[in-house]
Amino acid sequence: MSERLADAPKVRDTILAAAAAARGVPGADPRALAHSWLFTGPPGSGRSNAALAFAAALVCTNTEEIGCGRCEGCRHALAGNHTDVVRVVPDKLSISVEGMRGVVAQAARLPTVAKHRVVIIDNADRLTTEAADALLKTVEEPPEHTVIILCAPSTGPEDISQTLRSRCRHIYIPVPSEAEVVRVLMEEEGASEEHARLAAATSLRHIGRARKMVTSPEAQRRRAAAIQLAEHVFFGARAFQAAGALVKAVNKEAIDAYAEADAAEVAKLEAAIGRGARGKGVGRATEDSAPEVKRLEEDQKKRGTRRKRDMFDLVLVDLAGVYRDALVLQSQAGVPLTHPDFEGLSAEIAQRVSQEGLVECLDAVGQCRERLGQNVMPAVAFNGMLGRIRLACGVR
Ligand SMILES: [Zn+2]
Repeated sequence: MSERLADAPKVRDTILAAAAAARGVPGADPRALAHSWLFTGPPGSGRSNAALAFAAALVCTNTEEIGCGRCEGCRHALAGNHTDVVRVVPDKLSISVEGMRGVVAQAARLPTVAKHRVVIIDNADRLTTEAADALLKTVEEPPEHTVIILCAPSTGPEDISQTLRSRCRHIYIPVPSEAEVVRVLMEEEGASEEHARLAAATSLRHIGRARKMVTSPEAQRRRAAAIQLAEHVFFGARAFQAAGALVKAVNKEAIDAYAEADAAEVAKLEAAIGRGARGKGVGRATEDSAPEVKRLEEDQKKRGTRRKRDMFDLVLVDLAGVYRDALVLQSQAGVPLTHPDFEGLSAEIAQRVSQEGLVECLDAVGQCRERLGQNVMPAVAFNGMLGRIRLACGVR
């Protein structure tokens, strides 16, 4: 516990107070324990880890130290094989209503060895409307011996039904420290210290993304492509071509990569409600689709849009990092760079572009993010941004 939440003292205190209340420790405030929780945080902040740490604290058998991390209860909970800790990690794109009914039934069962049964639902933003409805009663009136923890990214809390959200006690999990990210990458991904440090800096301490940085060549390529836009800007139409290619690649990765899984999900639902599956390649929601199928397809579309937005956001964060680094180098502030491996590029830009110009570049990137949030076509938003950046960099 202390190690996992070392740099989130508020979270740790809340969790420990709740666990103390659950245990009935003399002097503990009984109000500290709620039975339904919502853990949110920026993508990659370690929500699920925090939820596991909470579960461990609740089933910990150490009489001296709650959530000791060493006793059998803690070890099994943290390893994901405690009999009273149920963890739902959706492997599919959404959590179905059948799956959720199973979870609800498990939540109702009495714990076997611990005092509480803990149910953790990862990616609760992926609950279908029906699944959220199936869960609602349990979240509203959880059994006395059950603690339910919903985890969801704070970037899309609108994806969790308002009713569910309002019934839960909310904890915000902040982004971890750089040292913590480096430790996780080295210990859990086997990254070298050098790679781990670079990934932590460049991902802005986003654990999931930092993990990808050390394990996925695609993520590395996309990051490099985003950073290189700042260089292409100085060479005629190249920046616009490169941005066009990047937008295409992101669209493909966010939508095409899931097309088959989406179709399979629809087919499964149709089979479940007794409709013949439409063959591969047959159009999307047709007039005779069951309302459940239409809703699922709408859900899928929303998820695809969010994936795309998240990916574009990462591209823009990477690009902004270059201009931020150029400003840092100009000011000789000695602040660590976001992209230490592209220092040559940011140093050159720092030489060629005034401070005012760099601020204008950052503003252009920020505006592009905003416009994407307003559903402006990505290609249009990117071209507008590059046009502004070219002017700001004095390219005619
Ligand atoms: Zn323990």
